[in-house]
Amino acid sequence: MALLQISEPGLSTAPHEHRLAAGIDLGTTNSLIASVVSGAASVLSDTQNRRLFPSVVRFLEDGGTETGHAALSSQHHDAPNTIASAKRLMGRTLNDLNGLATSLPYQLIDAPGMVKIRTIAGDKSPVEIAAEILTTLKNRAEASLGGPLTGVVITVPAYFDDAQRQATRDAARLAGLQVLRLLNEPTAAAIAYGLDQAIQGTYAIYDLGGGTFDISILRLSQGVFEVLSTHGDAALGGDDFDRRIADWISQQCPSANLSISDRQQLLHHAKNAKEYLSDTDIAPIAFELSDGTNIRLQLDRATFWRISNELLNRTLKSTRQALRDAKLTNQDIDGVVLVGGATRMPHIREAVATFFGRPPLTNLDPDAVVALGAAIQANVLAGNRGDHDWLLLDVNPLSLGIETMGGLVEKIIPRNSSLPIAMAQEFTTFRDGQTAMSIHILQGERELVSDCRSLARFTLHGIPAMNAGAARIRVTLQIDTDGLLSVSARELTSGIESAITVKPSYGLDDAQIARMLTEAQNKAGDDMRMRMLRETQVDARRLLDATEAALAQDGKTLLNPAELNAIRQCMHHLVDVIETEGVNQIEALRQASETLNQATQEFAARRMNHAIQHALTGKSLEHLAL
Ligand code: ADP
Ligand code: MG
Repeated sequence: MALLQISEPGLSTAPHEHRLAAGIDLGTTNSLIASVVSGAASVLSDTQNRRLFPSVVRFLEDGGTETGHAALSSQHHDAPNTIASAKRLMGRTLNDLNGLATSLPYQLIDAPGMVKIRTIAGDKSPVEIAAEILTTLKNRAEASLGGPLTGVVITVPAYFDDAQRQATRDAARLAGLQVLRLLNEPTAAAIAYGLDQAIQGTYAIYDLGGGTFDISILRLSQGVFEVLSTHGDAALGGDDFDRRIADWISQQCPSANLSISDRQQLLHHAKNAKEYLSDTDIAPIAFELSDGTNIRLQLDRATFWRISNELLNRTLKSTRQALRDAKLTNQDIDGVVLVGGATRMPHIREAVATFFGRPPLTNLDPDAVVALGAAIQANVLAGNRGDHDWLLLDVNPLSLGIETMGGLVEKIIPRNSSLPIAMAQEFTTFRDGQTAMSIHILQGERELVSDCRSLARFTLHGIPAMNAGAARIRVTLQIDTDGLLSVSARELTSGIESAITVKPSYGLDDAQIARMLTEAQNKAGDDMRMRMLRETQVDARRLLDATEAALAQDGKTLLNPAELNAIRQCMHHLVDVIETEGVNQIEALRQASETLNQATQEFAARRMNHAIQHALTGKSLEHLAL
């Protein structure tokens, strides 16, 4: 259905037509693009047969850019204009980044919503940097596949929040790509291994990249992956292993006086040695420092493992925490997937195997698994798989809720919840004796009904007449794996029930979703004020209703005409205030409600006494003692 859209808009396929679609792993260190060609997913290489594309963009004075390998090689002589690791900045403000800003070789400046980077070509948003990378990958794919891409699936870390996901979508739009879906990186890795073909299972995805470590626990049931927990360390990756080797090298030659460019050389050779040690037992390290000193060393595996063991242990600590968060033990895991170039290190593989008591899945290239899984998903979403005319979604893209008093939306299922999902909330009646309740289901992030999209309405009839607030109506929203929404409402004291299944025939496209989200972000302040106003209005009406009911019952017997008149005056005033929209309406409503409250205090006290006397009439003291 719509929000849970089944085939993407405009993508219903004519038979035998193959649409070009690709999966993109937009990584912190390296990015890749892959596609399903003749039934098998494969990574698309550049003209020099390189598959990894460094996620680096250099801005030039004339407004031009260099990306990938070209930018990477400029990094050491033009660091302030050469932006690496921009993924860490996506959708983040300076405040979100804590200390990170000071450790970067380029200058960050604060901007509303997201930081910017000061370059020779002006201030650049991380979204523009990601768009440069995506554009290069898009061109690579279109050249190699021989036509324009219909759509792409882009992967994001499972822990990415709305702002980070939205920034990724915006980058794709800037690059002229149609995003079929954002897919969680661990889910993509699991799909690459075909784990989604099983009936069910629980999997651990261990991802050690260049500068980040992520562990995710996924559960597959009925064809849908649910992220049970994620943990990790945003400042721990393959680069830290390079630093340990660089430190070791400098300890071997204590007399050397290292310049900044020596330190960079050291890191470069350390990285080579690290990667070399994944295939051999001993790595030769030979280069010359700027003062002419010759470095000639050999690093063996045992030494490397010893000096990097603490880093490895930190990843296992996170893994333990992720299992705890998912309330599982390593015994519950049916499969372990290794992701990220740094998991090529044999001691990592051994440690992970020992930890889980089973060998991890490693037959796919760990740098490529995420892109391959994304490519498989993109192929399905583009409609190239005839055997699937519907698709499974792993999250719902917009919040679902129901209308409450005052034209407000109470969200029940938050956006990005993984599917299937069922969530319930209790509501109550607003008026005394109310016997029906109209249930209006809405989709969107805004606070007011008029700003969200109406999906369906139905009425729960037959609620037993009770005082306002006494009925307990539980409304349950459920989205199944086919993306079908059903809503049921049940009055708990009487058990009467009503239900509806919602399946709109049209959907929201990504642009509409993006617009609704941007609006929600921009209007958040207005919405809060509007929500407060509506709530105050509802409270005021409730007070009027209650007073009216009390007057009808006891007004004549307990009040003299002057007192009755005073209360009526206050009620009229409150009605006037409710009907006069204005900037200070909330305050005016509060004052008028308070005045009415004051005016009815004496009346309330008399009613109470009256009620007690009535209850006492004819009862003996013994009865009361009970
Ligand atoms: P990201 O997800 O951060 O973009 P990648 O998955 O591409 O990163 O991982 C990059 C890291 O993998 C780098 O630290 C790199 O040195 C490391 N790496 C790549 N190949 C090997 C190898 N053969 N042995 C050890 N580490 C490797
Ligand atoms: Mg990665």
